[in-house]
Amino acid sequence: MAVYQGQELISGYLQIENFENGLEQQEIEHSVEVDSVKIDKDDLYNRIIECENEKTEKITINGKTYKRHNYLMVQIKKYRDYKCQFCSTTILKANGNYYIEACHIKPKTEGGKDILDNILILCPNCHKLFEYPLKKSW
Ligand SMILES: [Zn+2]
Repeated sequence: MAVYQGQELISGYLQIENFENGLEQQEIEHSVEVDSVKIDKDDLYNRIIECENEKTEKITINGKTYKRHNYLMVQIKKYRDYKCQFCSTTILKANGNYYIEACHIKPKTEGGKDILDNILILCPNCHKLFEYPLKKSW
């Protein structure tokens, strides 16, 4: 059985995230950061609503195409200031970006939608505290 030190555990965790959508997420984060210098919270909110209503799976921003879901999650993370909605934790990464997770209140498997009202922005601890009691298969 493997025994992990804290740092290994953290980098292992980040690899899981990277495996899913890391590069695309980083690119979107960068474009949202660059963009959001020019826009305020109301504009960001309007963008999220626009993105929610977009019917296609992919979305093109500044000539680059992203998965709509990934783009929306980054926008919502930014809208929530990359801060856990339960405990207010922020996690600063070595590259200067923040690490935070997006969690569906009603799971997609149960018809939960990718909309602001169904997404919680949570730190990893609160994410697990929220999800584990609800997931019967874990
Ligand atoms: Zn938290």
